[in-house]
Amino acid sequence: MQGGSFVYKITDITDQIKNMRGLESNLTMRNNMKDDLILVAGAGGFIGGELVHYFRDKGFTNIRAVDKKPVPDWFQVTQGVESLCLDLSIPDNCKRAVGGATEVYNLAADMGGIGFIKSYRVECLRSVLINTNLIEEAYKAGVTRYFFASSACVYNTELQEDSVARALKESDAFPAMAERGYGWEKLLSEMVCQEYWEERGFETHIARFHNTYGLEGAWDGGREKAPAALCRKVIETEHSGYPSITIWGDGSQTRSYTYIDDCVRGIDMIMHNGLLIATPVNLGTSELISINDLVSLIEDIAGFKVHREYNLGAPIGVAGRNSDNTLIQSILGWQPDTPISEGMKKTYEWIRQQVAEKKYE
Ligand code: NAD
Repeated sequence: MQGGSFVYKITDITDQIKNMRGLESNLTMRNNMKDDLILVAGAGGFIGGELVHYFRDKGFTNIRAVDKKPVPDWFQVTQGVESLCLDLSIPDNCKRAVGGATEVYNLAADMGGIGFIKSYRVECLRSVLINTNLIEEAYKAGVTRYFFASSACVYNTELQEDSVARALKESDAFPAMAERGYGWEKLLSEMVCQEYWEERGFETHIARFHNTYGLEGAWDGGREKAPAALCRKVIETEHSGYPSITIWGDGSQTRSYTYIDDCVRGIDMIMHNGLLIATPVNLGTSELISINDLVSLIEDIAGFKVHREYNLGAPIGVAGRNSDNTLIQSILGWQPDTPISEGMKKTYEWIRQQVAEKKYE
């Protein structure tokens, strides 16, 4: 293939799709048997934990959940699921993890919110070892299909310098100028997945997640993202009696935030769609909101106001980023659609409980 051809593949695909409707039923009815073994890597984390839960609820009886963290530290441990503590940057552990699996979902990465990915670029880059070793062992083991969790951080940062954010379509990752460390790891791992399909015929699927939030994720400790961090800060004002929160930057930075239920549903749909093989696709809402407006939304949910202090020296990432959902909508006839007001209400309530339990434990 010629260099850059994947970019054209992405832009052309919405045109192609119009001619492929007849094939759609064959290409989308690709679900596995309920007793096929599914491996979820990174299952001790936020999205991986929820994905295990989702498949178990769908009736899958043979799920293997793997994470580097000791099992008692996982966000969720689902009953009836084989839960293993393995470091998947090591090839032998990957071999053990994929043995007998029909599908592999790679959600394992050393990552966190903007504070983490700006400060620990080496750790972020080293996640390349996980995908590199896991996909190779999955290929050798005869796994049917492989999913990679990519990120909106692959997008060219020069297109994201305005808080009146342009919605990024899949081809906007090139010419490449990804987020240092974390974004480049994701971009390279995407290419690894694409080449396993192009050269070796190993079926891979790639979703670019846009800021996912919800229950059972990190909410303190430094790896949490803005929605959880801001909920916690607002809640803590009640406990501390100090009615002020610190916002990173001037609060004008914008993002689209995706509720966890949409994320896991999207992963399932993308993995089982034959038109989305080796084709990175956005998985995020297109509802843009600034950090200041997110704080106002949390205040509405909480039922009280807080005083806002701004730390202009704190890391904020790009000025604005939104998701262009033309591709996902045209292929799946669906896009993440939980309104932020609805998702944040549930998230706030859950974090309120976590803060209360921690306070009194
Ligand atoms: P998370 O940090 O909650 O979960 C990742 C899990 O991977 C952790 O439990 C961690 O222990 C595990 N892990 C790290 N190194 C490992 C290793 N060597 N072997 C085995 N397990 C290892 O993160 P998340 O929010 O659930 O994200 C899941 C995936 O989605 C990641 O690849 C992340 O980069 C991607 N993503 C997430 C978001 C988001 O907003 N949450 C956005 C874009 C992309």
